[in-house]
Amino acid sequence: MLLEGKIAVVTGGTRGIGYATVKAFLEQGAKVALFGSREETVKIALEKLNEENADYPVIGLHPNLMDPQEVKSAFQTVVDEFGRIDILVNNAGISQRDKIFDYNIEDFEMIMNLNVNAVFICSKEAASLMKNQGGGVILNTSSMVSLYGQPAGAGYPTSKFAVNGMTKSLARELGKDHIRVNAVAPGVIKTDMVAALPDEVIQPIINTIPLRRVGEPEDVANAFVFLASDMASYITGVILSVDGATMS
Ligand code: NAD
Repeated sequence: MLLEGKIAVVTGGTRGIGYATVKAFLEQGAKVALFGSREETVKIALEKLNEENADYPVIGLHPNLMDPQEVKSAFQTVVDEFGRIDILVNNAGISQRDKIFDYNIEDFEMIMNLNVNAVFICSKEAASLMKNQGGGVILNTSSMVSLYGQPAGAGYPTSKFAVNGMTKSLARELGKDHIRVNAVAPGVIKTDMVAALPDEVIQPIINTIPLRRVGEPEDVANAFVFLASDMASYITGVILSVDGATMS
């Protein structure tokens, strides 16, 4: 049990990488608060976890991550329920594929608001709690596009470059408070959207990946477990690629 007794918050925990991370944390002995965007999806995720194991110590909330007051109050609910917060995983995120000439500023702002501003808001709130507790771990979901960019939807890689910048900067700022800050940069991961792609679309992508498969959400979750655990106690400011050595 790598996370025995730890209390974790996972944003975007209702499906995909976030859900796999919630499950992996629970399996490793953590108590978890999963955050989702809507009450209904949070309820479905909790029911699914309950079917896996009725004893999992897990709660679900749906604060607006872009509203500092709602985030503060949600974190307080977690502290009231579990006593403290040791680990925050900033995982909620959206992607966009618009070409620059069709890209409007509202869409660009929307992606920056969730993928960057919400990470700042949640990290600030968590860091304040963790500093008072004597330490903690903040983890961010970046992306392989934060290394290479992508040929359309410039807002998405821009947001993930910003996540890397925040990760490295907060690691340097918060180290003295015993707060470690790291990110995982997934490659192509088999979430619902990727799983639904037809063979003729996915196979050419797989052919370019040295490990010759797309990643599973559990591959990313395992990296989060390691980085959240005391096994990574001297690791901070790192962007860990989990991408099968995908090059672009
Ligand atoms: P997903 O769409 O399956 O899940 C996204 C999660 O974010 C959901 O739980 C959803 O509720 C939450 N979310 C979306 N909009 C929200 C909002 N406005 N407020 C609060 N929560 C919101 O996606 P995923 O593929 O599991 O992605 C999770 C993270 O991984 C994202 O940050 C994404 O950028 C990153 N990522 C995914 C891949 C991939 O191939 N799937 C690759 C690299 C990085």
